[in-house]
Amino acid sequence: MPIELFCATSNKGKLLEFRQASGADVVIQGLPSVDCAEVGRSFEDNAVAKAICYAQSLSGKLDKFSEQAPLVFADDSGLEVDALNGAPGILSARFAGSDADHAANNRLLIEKLHDVPLPRRTARFVCCIALTRAGRIIKTFQADVKGMILKEARGEGGFGYDPLFYVPALEATFAELLPDEKWMYSHRGQAFRKMLDWLRESL
Ligand code: IMP
Repeated sequence: MPIELFCATSNKGKLLEFRQASGADVVIQGLPSVDCAEVGRSFEDNAVAKAICYAQSLSGKLDKFSEQAPLVFADDSGLEVDALNGAPGILSARFAGSDADHAANNRLLIEKLHDVPLPRRTARFVCCIALTRAGRIIKTFQADVKGMILKEARGEGGFGYDPLFYVPALEATFAELLPDEKWMYSHRGQAFRKMLDWLRESL
């Protein structure tokens, strides 16, 4: 029997990435989009809250408290910049304001780091995935990837802060990688593989 997981996201791109990265032994189902407040103080708080919020749309389908209740996972991620004391962090999507798009967030990041020399432009992408069942946390999986924030965008791929996020070991920004390459190194890819490894061992 394949492992069935429900993914708490309204982002179709993420759902597709998770599906493409799963083996034949894992089936990932989407869930109807739900508006969940992101008011936690950490990536972990927000991932757990999102998973539990989305899981409510499944209640009634299966006994909520049974061992057979669906497994629901959610991820929360963002960019932490050392010279900004970890900002934008959990506010990464809304760095330049609640309606800000990726371009506005990137512009603000370049602006805030204007006087910071390259060696001090260290940063990391962080991702936390929360795995829940019947409204309770089973386990969380966190991963990060270290890089530097460039002064100018490089590359056409990816999304968000990818064109500014340079990984010295790869000699490329995340936006210069092919989707499969980014998934190999990214915070989200690493956290997702940790969850799959744990599930394969534990179920
Ligand atoms: P969320 O995990 O979808 O809530 O992501 C929050 C925000 O963090 C995104 O809107 C991006 O600004 C940023 N972010 C998270 N992961 C990445 C990534 O892989 N590349 C670029 N930006 C990211």
